[in-house]
Amino acid sequence: MASETRASGNAFLETGSASARIFERARHVLPGGNTRTTLYMAPYPPYAAHGRGSVIVDVEGQARYDFLNNYTALIHGHADPDINAAVIDQLAGGVAFAMPTEQEVALAEVLAERIPSVERVRFTNSGTEAVMMAIKAARAFTGRPMIAKFNGCYHGSYDFAEVSTKPAPAGPHGDPLSVAYSVGTPQAVLDSVVVLPYNDLEATERLLTAHRGELAAVLIDPMPRSMGLHAADRTFLSRLREITRAYGIVLIFDEVISLRADRGGMQAVLGVTPDLTAMGKIIGGGFPIGGLGGSAEVMAVFDPSTGPRAPHGGTFNANPVSMVAGLVAMQKMTDDEFDRLAHLTGQLQAGFEEVMTEAGIEGQTAGHGSLFHVHLHRRPLATYTNAFPRPQETTRLDAVYRTLLAHGIFVTPTLFGCLSTPMGVAEVESFVDAFATALHETGG
Ligand code: PMP
Repeated sequence: MASETRASGNAFLETGSASARIFERARHVLPGGNTRTTLYMAPYPPYAAHGRGSVIVDVEGQARYDFLNNYTALIHGHADPDINAAVIDQLAGGVAFAMPTEQEVALAEVLAERIPSVERVRFTNSGTEAVMMAIKAARAFTGRPMIAKFNGCYHGSYDFAEVSTKPAPAGPHGDPLSVAYSVGTPQAVLDSVVVLPYNDLEATERLLTAHRGELAAVLIDPMPRSMGLHAADRTFLSRLREITRAYGIVLIFDEVISLRADRGGMQAVLGVTPDLTAMGKIIGGGFPIGGLGGSAEVMAVFDPSTGPRAPHGGTFNANPVSMVAGLVAMQKMTDDEFDRLAHLTGQLQAGFEEVMTEAGIEGQTAGHGSLFHVHLHRRPLATYTNAFPRPQETTRLDAVYRTLLAHGIFVTPTLFGCLSTPMGVAEVESFVDAFATALHETGG
């Protein structure tokens, strides 16, 4: 692993470390020293210095294999030479124009060719905006005000999509309530969102039927992280497709993460085609991006020559830097690369399961393609209540995470992560070994 140290221990936690010093400065200019809630870690996180291929190096010079890849966005790891070459070329030619570019057409063509639901595309700067614009498109298309989404599922920071991101308790009729994620969310927002229980066909059908005249969209992630990366049941999803079609409700898949799982996203794996798909992360080759795609009929709400019914500006929409980075990233993801990464991820999961069995832990793994999630329990993951870790599991997971960090592995504190194309068997074996060590060191 190059010249950096991959020594064990967490140098960033030592008194007077470079990370400690940067964090001290950060506390004076960023609330709690933080500008991305997801990266919070007590007492402070390691600060990144640079990355190359499968490796991320912190400011102490400690190198770790990066199994998080900026929360799955970097499918080719860090500083991919082909993506960098395309970006450098684009930098020399200008980075943003108030004119469209051919680059946006080229990336849209690749997405339309690969993803079953995508005939037309709009680019945004984040997955949050992609979800937001998909919801606005559905409202404009149907002329209805409300949306339905699933309890406990995360879709970014748009007010309506945020409702009940934190799992809501059941209300008087046993159905999940609409609960604010951000303090001060207007009641009108909460009243505009019907919260559904994931994989529960009876309740979902009943609630959609009750609100059929008011619902513009149903928003669903076909393999949510909050469900422990357990894909939606096929029968549930197919029936959801039938019901939404029958009621004239726009079905939106949030594939911001799950697009990584397969060339055509999880919709191709599960064989269910939504009306709209929210995209992000890998389609930008590591640069800021989001996108929504869907049928020509629904996406026509954005057509400026006819109104448009859903106006959508954005100073940096389809900026050519993100477009060329995304285009190269997607072109490099050939069918063989998808297969190789899925195979490697399977080896990693088999390794985890073996290690857990040896350690006497009743655990399991989930995920698809290059995405994985480790669970320290055997409850069936299909429902939110089962998938969510119990307090003692969270404590153990956090201890395992910190021990993994000390042994050269970077992943989320919930042991969710992904592989990148620079990875091979060496990275997988290192992770499995470190996981065995972490279970040993945190056991008992
Ligand atoms: N949807 C899902 C499923 C996500 O995981 C995320 C971000 N992790 C988003 C939407 C929002 O994307 P972004 O962070 O690019 O705004």
